[in-house]
Amino acid sequence: MSEDVACRLAGVGAQIAEAARGVGRDAHDVRLIAVSKTFGADEIRPVLDAGQRHFGENRVQEAQGKWPALREDFPDLTLHLIGPLQSNKVKEAVALFDVIHSVDRPKIARLLAAEMDRQNKRIPLFIQVNTGEEDQKAGVAPAEVGALLSLCRDELLLEIAGLMCIPPVDEEPAIHFAFLAKLAGELGLESLSMGMSGDFTTAVELGATHVRVGSAIFGGRG
Ligand SMILES: *Cc1c(COP(=O)(O)O)cnc(C)c1O
Repeated sequence: MSEDVACRLAGVGAQIAEAARGVGRDAHDVRLIAVSKTFGADEIRPVLDAGQRHFGENRVQEAQGKWPALREDFPDLTLHLIGPLQSNKVKEAVALFDVIHSVDRPKIARLLAAEMDRQNKRIPLFIQVNTGEEDQKAGVAPAEVGALLSLCRDELLLEIAGLMCIPPVDEEPAIHFAFLAKLAGELGLESLSMGMSGDFTTAVELGATHVRVGSAIFGGRG
């Protein structure tokens, strides 16, 4: 079983490398985040043993239940929050995570800035963009990204690494990845968190610096 997961991890790494090479990018510029949501410590350990150090979780509470113990054994791991952040979870999120990919409104940005001051901890952030302008989807509308970015950077002095998106399920992801890349370029942002199990090679071809891959590594979530 653990050989399977190590094998799938290596396969994803090889696909990233190939996609990067195909467009003349250095594969080292693409960070693989293994998305371990719904999987327990027993399933995560083999992936850590295989050398993977960046992991993504989409719920603060779930992550709190498994990562403090894993971090004791693997102090050099990096934990990414990739799911929506509620205001009442900001304190826990700042304490537990090393990177947050889901900043999508002024209120959360202000709370994060205050909490980071309180905990004396600086965490790089991504602004999540609702590129499909879907009603129910998290993320700031494309037209409002610039304003949120200036609030974060100029007023709150937050470190904004780049932009993140989750394309609508029923649309061609490439269009959304290209759009996010263009937006980041216009805003002078370097990092692009985009691409999941079904489309990470496309994302790499279009400039992703962080791909968030779950089921292709851990298997289906049932
Ligand atoms: C679950 C999740 C992923 C990974 O999805 P897979 O299809 O399993 O690779 C990536 N990003 C976010 C925000 C997620 O919630």
